[in-house]
Order: sequence, then structure tokens, then C-alpha cells
Amino acid sequence: MGSPKFLNRYNAVENNELPACFKVTKHISVEFDQNASLEELWNVHDMEMENYRLAFKEVNSGVRGQELPEAESSLLDLKIAIADRILQHCHFCERRCGANRKEGEVGYCRLGKTSRYASEFLHMGEEPELVPSHTIFLTGCVFSCVYCQNWDISTRPESGVVIDPQKVGRLIDMRRSMGPRNVNFVTPTPHPHTILKVINEISANTPVVWNSNMYHSLEIGKLLEGVIDVYLADFRYGNDECAKRYSNAKDYMRVVERNFETAYRQAEIILRQLVIPGHVECCTRPIVEWTATHIPKVRFNLMFQYTPYYRAAEFPQINRYLTLKERERATRIVQDSGLEDVLL
Ligand code: SF4
Repeated sequence: MGSPKFLNRYNAVENNELPACFKVTKHISVEFDQNASLEELWNVHDMEMENYRLAFKEVNSGVRGQELPEAESSLLDLKIAIADRILQHCHFCERRCGANRKEGEVGYCRLGKTSRYASEFLHMGEEPELVPSHTIFLTGCVFSCVYCQNWDISTRPESGVVIDPQKVGRLIDMRRSMGPRNVNFVTPTPHPHTILKVINEISANTPVVWNSNMYHSLEIGKLLEGVIDVYLADFRYGNDECAKRYSNAKDYMRVVERNFETAYRQAEIILRQLVIPGHVECCTRPIVEWTATHIPKVRFNLMFQYTPYYRAAEFPQINRYLTLKERERATRIVQDSGLEDVLL
């Protein structure tokens, strides 16, 4: 249904008419003590975010030029320090395991401090406004979706190439000069400590896409302001029971709705709704209605490519493809919702 209506800033960054959010954050000079308590670091962060928001506003309105020299000690450095501290009592996601991943403990996701990527390439299969997209698939996941199409990556956190932030930052710069419109971090939820470091190494003006299940903690939602340009975000379930049954995620609605509302205030959103067989009324409908009421200015992508991968055979209700009727019903729900920017 036409070109995106609500991705104006992303388009401007992609065309180098505006700086990516992280460029503004790297420009904000911040003095902080690496040994300060996490609470003290947050206090400095919250105060300095006011400077970020002012600079961001001025850059967007043209009051301030695009020349944004990098600070020696920046707000992005502070965000990295906070993420590193959170890693020691991990609450990157709402499982809030409390594992000291820095010292080798693991939580539900079985990830330690090292992040790896399974692949990085120019993806032509994403939303048309994103392709070609420099896609970096990280390993491991905080969900356990029984129909996961990337189960070989998500269930093997120890597989893949260890991420060296400097090298990957250079790789992103090199790729950007070859034409991709953004860098797209897939399954980022357990890896913010590494992704922030990678972003700190990027020189080229590159829109940053957070390709996520939106199950991150409140704290990570705060940390991502000023870093992420576009949330490419799944809203999969319309109630807690389905989320628990198929992804072993509890309290799904509260967490994901909160994170969408936070992201909506901070960045632009492409919301992905993968229609699941037998779940049009219990999942698709409430998601569409909630979106139209609470975060209407998003790009809404209704997706029909559900395939019964991995352990779907153990769940007869979802062990099939969508029917034509289900596709038509889901389409009608979106068309009747009043959402203005829809990709069908
Ligand atoms: S990322 Fe989530 S699942 Fe993994 S250790 Fe941290 S809180 Fe637990």
C-alpha cells in the first residue's frame, strides 16, 4: 500500500541529510567515573539525555548544523559503561536472570559475555524500504519459539564468529560505502553490551535498525534512546497464554506494550505481525487494535509467511500453513483498523 509514511527521519539519515541518532550521542560530551555505582551512572545518563534531546531537536529542525564532532568521552561511552555493568547482574531482558555473565555465569539464554554472529550479508528480503540491508545475525535468543525458523542459530549461542567491535565497525563502514541503506542487528536482545561497542566504532553515517522481539528490559529501552533509528519489531502475540505456550515468555503483553510505547517516543518503528495459524482472533486482532489506539504512526507489516519449522509438529494447532480465509480475515482486520501505513 504505497511507500512508507512514517519513516521520514530514517529516509533523511539514509540519504545523509540528517545524522544517525548515534552520531548525536557521540557528540554529547560526558564526564563520568567508570568506578561509580550503577545508580550514579544512571543519574548522569538521565541528566545528559536532556542535552541529547535538545541537540537532536536542533539537528532535526536545522537550527544546528550536521557537523557534530565526536566528544572525547561521550554519552555513548557512558551507555557502554552502563551496559557492561548490567552484564554483571544481567537484566538485558525481562527474564532478569541476574547472572554475572561477565564472570562466566549464564542465564536462560545461555550466553556469557561473548557475542557472536552467525552471518552478515546484504539482505534483499527485508521490507522494501530497508533493502539492501546490512544484516548481522547474532546467535542465541531470550525466547524459545517452538516454530523458530532460525532455530539452528538461536539454540546454539556458542556458534558463529566472535564479534570484535572494532572489526565489525569497520566492516559496517565498508559495507555502507557499497550501498546498503542501514545496518540491521538481528536478535539483539541479549547483546546490547556488544552492539553498543560496535556502533561506537562506526564512522559512516548509517541508520541503525534494531530487529527485535521487544522483550528487552525497561533499562535497555532507556539505553537505546539516542542509538537506534528504527525498531524493526515483532509483535507476535495478543495475549500472555499464547506467548507462554509458544515462546516460553511470561508477562509478554505488559513488557512488549511498554517497550513499543517507549520506542514510539524515541525512534521510528516498523511493526511486524506474523500471522500464526489459528491465531487471527486471539493474537492478530488485539495487536492491530492496540497498535491503532496506542502507537498509530508506525509502519505496520502484516506477514503471512508462517512456516511450521523446528518443533511445530508437537503443537497440532500451529503445525500447518495459513489458510486463504485466515489471510483474508487478517487483511480485513488491518484494513478496517484505521492504520495509515500498512504493508500487506
Ligand atoms: S539476556 Fe535475558 S535471558 Fe539472557 S541472561 Fe540476561 S536476563 Fe537472562
